[in-house]
Amino acid sequence: MAVKSGGEWLEALRAQTPEVYMGGERVEKVYDHPTVSTLAFIFSAVRDTLNSQMFRDKGSVVNSPLINEEVSLFANIHQGPEEWIARTRIQREICRRSLCVFRCLQEDYQNAYWAITHETDQAHNTDYHERFVEWVKHMQKTDGIVGAAWMDVRGDRTKPPHEQPDAFLRMVERRKDGIVVRGCKSSISMATNCNELCVTPAPLKGRFSPTAEDKDFAVAFAIPLDTEGVKLIAKVPLKREQKTSLKMDYPFSRVGFGDLIFTAVFDDVFVPWERVFLCGEWDMLDRAASLTIETHFSAKGGCKSGTLDLLAGAAGLAAEYNGIENTPHAKDRLTHLMAWSEESFAAAIGAEVEGEKHPSGVWFPDPVKASANKWLCSEGGPGDIDTLLDLGGGIVTNAPAETEWNNPEIRGYLDKYLVGKSGFSAEERVRVMKLIEDLTTTDVGGLLHQLTVNAGGDLQAARNAVYSLYDLEDRKRTAKVFAGIEEADSMGFSWGL
Ligand SMILES: Cc1cc2nc3c(=O)[nH]c(=O)nc-3n(C[C@H](O)[C@H](O)[C@H](O)COP(=O)(O)OP(=O)(O)OC[C@H]3O[C@@H](n4cnc5c(N)ncnc54)[C@H](O)[C@@H]3O)c2cc1C
Repeated sequence: MAVKSGGEWLEALRAQTPEVYMGGERVEKVYDHPTVSTLAFIFSAVRDTLNSQMFRDKGSVVNSPLINEEVSLFANIHQGPEEWIARTRIQREICRRSLCVFRCLQEDYQNAYWAITHETDQAHNTDYHERFVEWVKHMQKTDGIVGAAWMDVRGDRTKPPHEQPDAFLRMVERRKDGIVVRGCKSSISMATNCNELCVTPAPLKGRFSPTAEDKDFAVAFAIPLDTEGVKLIAKVPLKREQKTSLKMDYPFSRVGFGDLIFTAVFDDVFVPWERVFLCGEWDMLDRAASLTIETHFSAKGGCKSGTLDLLAGAAGLAAEYNGIENTPHAKDRLTHLMAWSEESFAAAIGAEVEGEKHPSGVWFPDPVKASANKWLCSEGGPGDIDTLLDLGGGIVTNAPAETEWNNPEIRGYLDKYLVGKSGFSAEERVRVMKLIEDLTTTDVGGLLHQLTVNAGGDLQAARNAVYSLYDLEDRKRTAKVFAGIEEADSMGFSWGL
């Protein structure tokens, strides 16, 4: 069966033996480590949710003509806008409740490289596409998760790859049976929860024009997580201990949400040819990296709207419990959050609908709208954190800890003095404020913000994509008609001016 339950997937994960460094040492039994196992459990629970009838009805499971079996939407090669739209809708629901769907990077890579390998074969008479199809079939049959090793460490940001070889992953040896790669990729989300890593060059668009000197950096492939020579170095999220049975403090992050991020060193890693999808075709470097990241930009809309829905819910409760829900500024702030959520969602759907079919058969979201969407998600709104802190007030960070609420000697005072609007208890009010504290001022709150600013590509990369892909010349022509410089624009409009 090509769709694995959470339990089946966990079993397969536990059979892996990746080389992981965490907490100052090499972790021998990786999947027994509490941080790793908590996050693996969250993934497995989300997987079960996605396999449920409620989410199947939303399109989370589709039939793959490649293997004639049901597969996860996130392992599918999308033929039309419907599949992309389904992912955005699903992301919105899941991200509100579980922070992340955990598989959009896989989806975006699979679809982008379906097209890239096709284009490279056309241009270079290679056979990457056939190999890639076989790999996609493998991922669909095993229903494994693919982690994204996209972002090179990049050293001095202003220098191209060939001027600083260690800053970009590169091929160092070409053998009969495969290639050897060396380098380091940064910021791989949840790598220990992945079965494979997909590797593609980092996006350089608008920053460098690759030349033949960069050919060894034009390398893309996918390998099992526990491939020899792959060293995963962790940045572990803070662990929140449960202090009392009240479970008031850090209600969101104590579940275990928080990105476990890895820096991956590729210490002369061998990749067999059947797993190599680009190797030396430097003229494809820009296209490969750009298509992957621009496709991923459309994923931000579902993700951000889901997060904003959670923030709007918490802000709405804070306003209500403080008794200010009908004041103009509270309504104004809440309306901004609501509109921002709907705009992010609509921009993603718009990019998906307005996309087009690639000659290889994949449907791609429109890259200009997808890039504008990433920008909108990151900085198009009115300051979501400010809104929550403003409506909640100082009590968000200053309410006594749950140990004090658990102390009978003082509990009565807290119940009496920390109430807000009548009808709601002090404990209810403080619980909401502590949720807001967790979503805005803790490490996880900061991470939520960082997820929208940097995860999935930096803001300037999104701006660069908009600037280079938007057809400004066509719009200038219309302006010229009104200015009396040209007769008619591209649609023949002239107004007889
Ligand atoms: C929570 C989180 C999860 C992530 N998960 C993943 C993942 O799973 N897989 C993955 O591959 N990546 C992941 N990333 C990485 C993410 O894609 C990058 O952080 C993002 O693209 C920005 O790149 P950077 O971190 O190298 O920042 P930088 O590029 O160093 O950005 C710093 C500043 O330098 C500017 N800059 C950079 N280059 C130039 C240039 N040539 N000219 C002018 N200005 C420049 C940028 O615009 C920015 O203002 C994740 C990041 C975060 C924060």
